[in-house]
Amino acid sequence: MECLSHNIFTSATLTLERFIPSLSFASQVQVRASATGMTMSVKAVFFDLDDTLVLTHAADKVAHRAVSRLLATRLPELDHQAVVDSFVLHFVSEPWDPHHQIDVTEWRSQLWNRALVCQKVEDMDLARDLQNCFDSERLLAFQWASGVEVLVKKLQAQDIRVGIITNGHPKIQRAKLKACRAEDLFNVILVGGEEPKEKPHKEIFLKACLLAGCHPEEAIMVGDNLKTDIQGGLNAKFLATVWVDVHLQGHANRGPKPHHIVQNIVQLYEVLRQYGVTM
Ligand SMILES: [Mg+2]
Repeated sequence: MECLSHNIFTSATLTLERFIPSLSFASQVQVRASATGMTMSVKAVFFDLDDTLVLTHAADKVAHRAVSRLLATRLPELDHQAVVDSFVLHFVSEPWDPHHQIDVTEWRSQLWNRALVCQKVEDMDLARDLQNCFDSERLLAFQWASGVEVLVKKLQAQDIRVGIITNGHPKIQRAKLKACRAEDLFNVILVGGEEPKEKPHKEIFLKACLLAGCHPEEAIMVGDNLKTDIQGGLNAKFLATVWVDVHLQGHANRGPKPHHIVQNIVQLYEVLRQYGVTM
């Protein structure tokens, strides 16, 4: 597993371990905590949702393939991939109405319509069918990544609160959270679109701590987005931030520096061990 070397305790650890090499790791953790003036115990772990707990990009691909199949039955002569590609371009640029005047499902139907128009097809009913197909197939595929449920239950068994802090449109995010039955598993769930400030503003992170009954310096933030998840955890002065490099891109100074880097949720066990959490 790859972990960045700039852990906040690194310098204190190096100095102390030179003098107290015989202490157990747990004892050294306590000493390090005293040396840095911080509390080491982890009381809460917060996760981003998309491409952290659930591989959203994979669910998107499943939905895109389903839309292609639907198009193939309705308009066999059409370049189906071109329609999907065009939709994705529009979707990435404006996933919902920036002025919040148009319902998000209708907005996305209009994006499909624009993609169809690019192929010289004008059929708003078909566009709505494509959006319904995209939504239903994506939600069916929207399930926890491997190891998530076990990890969360093990954390809770250690009396550590577990939460989700996700940005995005409330209607879309709530549908995803329902699809994977998040409320059955997590203690705290916050959707950025429902809060006064989204990630990376510290306010939403501090509210999560309040709901979990912990201080920021007792919380760890885990997410795949450097600008929102990692920067937010840093803004709120969390104990640690963990970047999930889900696309295996490497950090390469591309943004805010996390305390740790993992490639998937399962690798989090080793990071947590460094904070005295053994499961
Ligand atoms: Mg994400």
